[in-house]
Amino acid sequence: MKLTVLGKYGPYPKAGTGATSGYLLESDGETIALDMGTGTLARLQAATDIRKLSAIYISHLHFDHTSDLLPLRYLLDDLGVTVNVITQYEDSDWYRTLFASPRFNVINIDACTELKMGSLKLTFYEMKHPARDYAIRVEGEKTFVYTGDTVLCDELYRAAEGADCVLCGCAKPAGFKGPHMAGDDAVKFAEQTGVKIIATHFAPTFDAEKDMPKHENIILAEEGKMYYI
Ligand SMILES: [Zn+2]
Repeated sequence: MKLTVLGKYGPYPKAGTGATSGYLLESDGETIALDMGTGTLARLQAATDIRKLSAIYISHLHFDHTSDLLPLRYLLDDLGVTVNVITQYEDSDWYRTLFASPRFNVINIDACTELKMGSLKLTFYEMKHPARDYAIRVEGEKTFVYTGDTVLCDELYRAAEGADCVLCGCAKPAGFKGPHMAGDDAVKFAEQTGVKIIATHFAPTFDAEKDMPKHENIILAEEGKMYYI
């Protein structure tokens, strides 16, 4: 199982460099893009052949996780292909703007959904965030979880049970008051579960190398880097 970090910032990219949430997971012959934030489409094309994407997963509909879906349509038009997009249904104009394209084969999920993709099993867990967010759990040769955005919650513990790695939107400064996990939550989660965590969704103004609490099971996501799980 291989994970490539395309963008690690949120809610906006760092000045001069960086992108917001986007990742590429390759496992068991399948290729899944996880979120499509600002600046990730260029990197996604460099990392894989868009025509071979098994699916794009969108954790929730905030701009920093979805905005590059819009120019992606032009690329799909040029390539003449459609792509599977897995996401929750929302009765909103923004949902319709994002997904009402014949280039997107939209597959709606909720916490009861179980999808098969080749030999992979995909399940979904409702997190706690102002926009409804589902963590995705991918079970194949290894078990991987991506949280999207959330505070630390019971469903995250359930999603992470027995996982080999959790890509966790937890890279906010300790004491951060908002709808995200902070570094101290990440340490608590790592200690309670023993799971390996790749910390991501960095505030652009936060010097995570310096100020993120250290823990043997937590590594900090780096854009462009590949992680073998
Ligand atoms: Zn969000």
